[in-house]
Parts: sequence; C-alpha cells; structure tokens
Amino acid sequence: MIPAIYIDLDETLIHSQDVRGDSIQEGEVVLDSLGGMVSACRPRPLALTMLSDLRSIAPTCLLTSARRSYALDVNRKLGFDFKPEEIIAREDFLTKKISPGAFPISVPIALNQSPRSILIDDLSFESAHLKTDYLGIPYKQYFQISAFYGVEDDEFFLEEWRCVLVKIRNLYQM
Ligand SMILES: [Mg+2]
Repeated sequence: MIPAIYIDLDETLIHSQDVRGDSIQEGEVVLDSLGGMVSACRPRPLALTMLSDLRSIAPTCLLTSARRSYALDVNRKLGFDFKPEEIIAREDFLTKKISPGAFPISVPIALNQSPRSILIDDLSFESAHLKTDYLGIPYKQYFQISAFYGVEDDEFFLEEWRCVLVKIRNLYQM
C-alpha cells in the first residue's frame, strides 16, 4: 500500500465565510448563494504551491469534515485538481457510510497499513482525533500548520511551510 499525504481544507488551504452578495472582495470566489447571502471562499496564497510540493512527495488526498458537495465545488473553482476519489469528506468518514477499506482503491487509505501516511491540518492533534482515528496515524505523522483566516504574512508562512516540508521529507527519507 502506498503511503499518502492527507490535507485538510478549511483554514488549511482556504478560508470561506458567508457574506452579503454585494461585498465579495477581490480574490474571493463565490461558492453558493442563499437569499442575499453568499459563501465566499479565498484560497491560501500558497495553496497551489503546497499541493504541488506534497504531490512531488506522495499521492495527496483531501480529508475534510465539510460536506462532499462543498469540497468538490471548491476543488473545481480553485483548480486544486483533486480527483473525486481523492476527496474524503464528512459523509465518507464521519458517518462511516463507506468503510475506509472499501474506499476506491485509487485512494491509498492509511488505517494502520501505511505507517508513513501523514495528515496536515490547522487543528491541534487532540482536536483532529476523528481524522487521526480514521487514518490510524500517530502524533509524529501529524503536522499542525497555522490556520488561514483570509489574510496572511506570505513570507512568514512560507518559512513555516518549508520547515513542515523538511520534516515530511525526513519521514519519507527523501
Ligand atoms: Mg481546518
């Protein structure tokens, strides 16, 4: 089984918020609208770089506790380029409708079978226990990064990201 890298969506790759339809800011993408309110989504400035960095190390999947339809919409509109089977959403792991072992084989589900699988998330390890339990990964394979709330010091985060990459490469012995 191929070890995979799993990455969270909200506050890790993007920041979404409900705003009035007429107050969409530059750089935001409209996801869906309800009445006068729309859900506006802003990618982390480094999001595409992060994904290409990770994909150069191992197969990379999205693991989000958000709805699948939302994750697919974000993926398409922001060009994150995850295949549908590389997106694991709320319906897939919170309700356990799909048992991990039964997931499409193109997704290298970890579940203790891939000791080098990794999860990257903005939450603390303790707060992300639903995901870590699902993946069966220990603390040393969990990487917490700063949460993205729509504004960021790019230089500062780039330094943080480089440190994370070094640790991940060490784990993969690259
Ligand atoms: Mg998050």
